[in-house]
Amino acid sequence: MARKSELIAVGTELLLGEIVNTDGAYIASRLKDVGVEVYHQTVVGDNPERLASALREAAGRSDVIVTTGGLGPTYDDLTKEVIARVFGKKLVRDEASLAHIREFFRKRGREMTPNNEKQADLPEGAVIFKNLWGTAPGCAFESGKNTVIMLPGPPAECEPMTDTYVIPYLTRPEDGVLTSRFIRVWDVGESAVEARLHDLMIESVNPTLAPYAKYGSVQLRVAAKAPTREEGYALCGPLVEKILGIFGDNAYEENGDGLPGFVFSLLKKRGMTLSAAESCTGGLISKMMTDLPGVSEVFMGGVCTYSNQAKSALLGIDPALIREKGAVSEEVAREMAERVRLRFSTDLGIGVTGIAGPGGGTPEKPVGLVYIALSDGKRTEVKKCEFGTLRRSRERIRADAANTALDMTRRRLLG
Ligand code: ATP
Ligand code: MG
Repeated sequence: MARKSELIAVGTELLLGEIVNTDGAYIASRLKDVGVEVYHQTVVGDNPERLASALREAAGRSDVIVTTGGLGPTYDDLTKEVIARVFGKKLVRDEASLAHIREFFRKRGREMTPNNEKQADLPEGAVIFKNLWGTAPGCAFESGKNTVIMLPGPPAECEPMTDTYVIPYLTRPEDGVLTSRFIRVWDVGESAVEARLHDLMIESVNPTLAPYAKYGSVQLRVAAKAPTREEGYALCGPLVEKILGIFGDNAYEENGDGLPGFVFSLLKKRGMTLSAAESCTGGLISKMMTDLPGVSEVFMGGVCTYSNQAKSALLGIDPALIREKGAVSEEVAREMAERVRLRFSTDLGIGVTGIAGPGGGTPEKPVGLVYIALSDGKRTEVKKCEFGTLRRSRERIRADAANTALDMTRRRLLG
């Protein structure tokens, strides 16, 4: 039977909304891979009584309890002390951890104050997770039916410690592993996707199928439980193929690098190159492409022609055209795509111009209006998009525009 787990994030700043509980999201997403189901997530302030009562409640209803935060040296770091009290464990100093903390300070040329020593006090009999990314060690121990795990709060420590220690600690061969494959669907609304997959979602047990709405697209997760990752991957195959068949050109399987990665691999396969002239996206397309190592093979570069002058000076667009049609127009987007393509001598050129907001909109040209052009020298298509209808932020409008431009590129490469 799957073990039930509960995550307890400790920290008043989490409770007050000053920081977001990303540790909880990270751990939860990792636990499901090893057959541990998260049934509750609790956030509790730096208060010993409330933490103790959260722990008692968790111990009663969950098998695995994972806490984050409050392992540091300061007076408000009280997780270990409270856990020791609730589970009747003595805290004992671990010399290896103490030596590691000393070394950590020495290497950084910082003085180690005495309160840092308490980070090396750990529950008797616990398995100790050496913190290679910071100072406070994590640990795990068994108490009756409960497995109790403590991790430090900073995500740069908590996340690698989850992968390095917690997942192996919790993995039991008999539970198998959960392997996920992801499909991205563009240009079909979430409810339409759900409607078309309704029966498949209900009848699919292993693998299971679940949709998530994501940045103007829908992501589908196909997940199978099997003794090994390879078997799980294969088990997902028929369902993945079926879904790709249903949505045709609108869907593709994600390879981890998302849409830019998919465009990269298609360009490479076709031996084609790409460049981009960007206005309202401010270089976001260039950024998304150049986030991928090795992309210089296919992505030659881009220009951020934000002002009218830049559009004329760098791309050679006639100022009269910009005056007559406006910088945000089908005509200017078309010119941007065609001219950047020539400038960079690429097979494909992208041109994006729009109004990212929040100001600058008019009734004829509202915030969120974006023209996206793609040219291959023979044919230039221009898509008129209105991304502003849902009170979207500037950031979202830009992301939608950049993603749509890359999706148009994907379709052209497939077509
Ligand atoms: P430290 O040794 O750094 O004090 P700690 O284990 O005592 O580590 P906290 O003092 O609770 O952890 O938190 C330190 C910082 O880690 C917080 O200020 C916050 O930036 C981050 N942090 C803590 N908990 C979380 C969480 N659940 N999600 C995301 N970030 C967190
Ligand atoms: Mg702390």
